[in-house]
Amino acid sequence: MDITKTTCPRCHQPIDKQAITCPYCHVQLKAYGHPGITLHRASGDQYLCDSCIYHADDSCNFPQRPYAKECTLYQNIEERELELQQLREANSFLNTVKNWIRRNQPLLLMLTLLLVCLIIAMLQL
Ligand code: SF4
Ligand SMILES: [Zn+2]
Repeated sequence: MDITKTTCPRCHQPIDKQAITCPYCHVQLKAYGHPGITLHRASGDQYLCDSCIYHADDSCNFPQRPYAKECTLYQNIEERELELQQLREANSFLNTVKNWIRRNQPLLLMLTLLLVCLIIAMLQL
């Protein structure tokens, strides 16, 4: 799917991510008419707060909590967990590479010297 596209939460038509209102059903998608401020909406009879990280950690002091149907600060718990998980995996891969380099420093030094010698030898030909 095109990364500049998303689907309208109401009519599910493909729309531009920056769209302020849906061109099909005209539902408002961004707050204050600003493309950078997403206006999240609850679907059906659910409330956004039920799946929001700021409700879970009790850090939200918006007056509409816990019955928000629209919110600009909504952060989905599962999406946040997924992001953190990906970050942890990336960090763990980075640490593995760092540890491997630390353990194999003499070998890497030898290979670097060999490569430098090879380049010098080739330049002399
Ligand atoms: S940030 Fe919005 S959705 Fe999240 S708990 Fe507060 S009012 Fe509810
Ligand atoms: Zn729509």
